[in-house]
Amino acid sequence: MTGAFEYRGGALHCEQVNLAEVAGRAGTPCYVYSAAALRRAFRLFEERLAGAPHLVCFAVKANGNLAVLRLLAEAGAGFDIVSGGELFRVLKAGADPEKVVFSGVGKTPEEIEAALQAGIHSFNCESEAELLLLSSLAQRMGRTARAAIRVNPDVDAATHPYISTGLKRHKFGIDIAGAEDLYARAAALPGLALEGASCHIGSQLLDVAPLIEAAERMGALVERLRARGIGLRFLDLGGGLGVPYRKEDPWPDVTRYLAAVRGIAERLHVELLLEPGRFIAGPAGVLLSRVLYRKSGSGKEFLIVDASMTELIRPALYEAHHEMLPLRRTERGTLVADVVGPVCESSDFLAEEREIENLLPGDYLAVMTAGAYGFVMASNYNARPRPCEVLVDGATWRIVRRRECHEDLVRGEEA
Ligand SMILES: *Cc1c(COP(=O)(O)O)cnc(C)c1O
Repeated sequence: MTGAFEYRGGALHCEQVNLAEVAGRAGTPCYVYSAAALRRAFRLFEERLAGAPHLVCFAVKANGNLAVLRLLAEAGAGFDIVSGGELFRVLKAGADPEKVVFSGVGKTPEEIEAALQAGIHSFNCESEAELLLLSSLAQRMGRTARAAIRVNPDVDAATHPYISTGLKRHKFGIDIAGAEDLYARAAALPGLALEGASCHIGSQLLDVAPLIEAAERMGALVERLRARGIGLRFLDLGGGLGVPYRKEDPWPDVTRYLAAVRGIAERLHVELLLEPGRFIAGPAGVLLSRVLYRKSGSGKEFLIVDASMTELIRPALYEAHHEMLPLRRTERGTLVADVVGPVCESSDFLAEEREIENLLPGDYLAVMTAGAYGFVMASNYNARPRPCEVLVDGATWRIVRRRECHEDLVRGEEA
């Protein structure tokens, strides 16, 4: 799972490509993704689930770049989308619509119609009102919508509160206690094939126990529904597997997790759907940045770099930790500094009080594990053009999204 980013002769490489060369030619800030790392992470699921009916749907919200989606589609991935925009992206990338699942708490009628038109695998419905709307739209279009109800299994994901979703108080899903009655009511709706149950309890879980606990509760729900004559054919257990952002973080025990969920699906004779996002894309990407200035004041040292919260908001939003590595190792030792960007917000930091290589203006650094929830959350705040994205494959690399220009910033505006 590791190994896509390594030093060779003091220079940080992505696969066979020297990242300093990418930074110099593509400019910074710049996201770089490793094709090998993306494929390897996806294949891990395929290998562990081989022989069991399954569909691994990459969560597009983690990284929606067309080249990344195309690469995963070619590897056999399905996709989990949460908007009509993401549907547009996956179709454009060449995804098989029959491998697309549509999640999200607020689907609009237009988005539902577009997905019905495309013929997606299924809708993960989050309320009775949504089931009613889906039923009527499908009927009007002369289609049958395959659907699952997103259930809230009430398992504490023990992750950051902003990315925990599986408790009763969260806006997501239907309370598992009330789910059976809703299934009974919705099973009779015309235009609807209510064939699945889904859940997603949160993100960045390094301990797989809550994921397995949720899977067991979902399995028990499938059995209770069967006893009531409602036979489900698939179980979608969402995403949530974490990645080690810190050197000392463990990898989640994916082997144990996949063996457990596979066992539950096989026992129930249902197709298993999973929706990993971060686990596939996170470790496969880095954000390259250049040091602009050094500044010290009141006992604090600042490294002012050209990447900011507009490229990577996770530190500002979740106080997330990302390791930082120099693109070229120096002989200058380390320093403790805040690594900050140019944006006019005090929360615009990439790291606080971090021991980091003693970098000087002009030096490059890589913000590690930035392939998920990185570029997709980039903004144009402070009228900053969004960065370019690069895909490395073996010894070659190419720009898969060009850096925005100033004209891009005002496109569609009228003075
Ligand atoms: C965000 C999300 C995912 C992906 O979560 P990761 O933690 O990135 O694996 C999967 N399914 C749903 C419904 C989501 O909202």
